[in-house]
Amino acid sequence: MKVPFVDLKAQYTAIKKEIDEAIASVIRDTAFIGGSYVAAFEKAFAETCGTSFAMGVSNGTDALRLALLACGVKPGDEVITVPNTFIATTEAISMVDAKIRFVDVNPTTFTMDPKQLESQLTPKTRAIIPVHLYGHPADMDPILDIAKKNKIRVISDAAQAHQALYKGRKIGTLGDAVCFSFFPGKNLGAYGDAGGVVTNDSDIAHSIRLLRDHGRTEKYEHEREGFNCRLDGLQAAILSAKLPYMEEWKEKRRAHAALYTELLSKIPGIQTPREDKNVSSVYHLYVIRVANRLKLKEGLTKEGIATGIHYPTPLHLQPAYSHLGLPKGSFPVTEKLSQDILSLPIYPELTNQQIEFVVQKIQSSTH
Ligand SMILES: *Cc1c(COP(=O)(O)O)cnc(C)c1O
Repeated sequence: MKVPFVDLKAQYTAIKKEIDEAIASVIRDTAFIGGSYVAAFEKAFAETCGTSFAMGVSNGTDALRLALLACGVKPGDEVITVPNTFIATTEAISMVDAKIRFVDVNPTTFTMDPKQLESQLTPKTRAIIPVHLYGHPADMDPILDIAKKNKIRVISDAAQAHQALYKGRKIGTLGDAVCFSFFPGKNLGAYGDAGGVVTNDSDIAHSIRLLRDHGRTEKYEHEREGFNCRLDGLQAAILSAKLPYMEEWKEKRRAHAALYTELLSKIPGIQTPREDKNVSSVYHLYVIRVANRLKLKEGLTKEGIATGIHYPTPLHLQPAYSHLGLPKGSFPVTEKLSQDILSLPIYPELTNQQIEFVVQKIQSSTH
């Protein structure tokens, strides 16, 4: 039995008719850039996020960059995030010429530890970027409190967390701006690069609309300089076709995670992911911890089971960030996690038989 890490083809096969129709209608209408398909997706996405505004943009990295600019982050300002994330989070900070500051993560949820946040605040701190890693929401209430008290902005990186819930609240409502990626492998994936920002703040929404489209207010009228960071009509139509399935796909991911956890908890030496009791994770990734992960990874590869490591090197130890001068030992929780995490296959179309097969092979590879 083969178990791929994700299976985008299985999803396409299941909804082929709707996707093919969506693509054909954009081509028929030649609505390639901007236009009604983008507007329709933005309206529907804002609704599912529970926000007043949604702006489609070119990708998740640009979503973060434009959100930082729209929130008034200026060159020389400082932005706090975690070293336990994909590099796009920090690239966006550098793209606006702000300075990256890190706080370590909580060892059970792998997300920003709010208790460490205050120690990194300086008079130059302008924003905080919590990352809802693997689809598990960061502990937002204390983060939002600290931000409010210090008059700084919260821009959430929800690239892995479409439709997650925190204390019953939708993830899109937690922060001044909440950024999504629609990279094909994300929980809501386009057929190319795409991203989005949601907000309840009309000024932020207005800024992002200008920034993504050359600062344009009307054709050849430019209020300011911006960028070309638009969402394509084709991607918007594909995303609109997929949106009605999001709830069902989320429940499938959660059921798969529950089955993995039930079966894996019988195997000594495997630590399964823990979900805070007041959140609903969307399991973009299902990440276990195991002492000899490379041996397990190799064993599973031999059996046709694909796994991943998210992420093998913490950002502060990447060559790209050597200039920050943060040595090994700076963020011990992130560093320890990076050595023993292993991501197992998870996607809505995964079957119980495949999960049972993966667990059986984990059992035989660890004994
Ligand atoms: C995927 C991802 C991004 C960037 O999204 P792109 O659409 O690939 O630019 C940002 N942050 C996190 C945590 C991600 O997983």
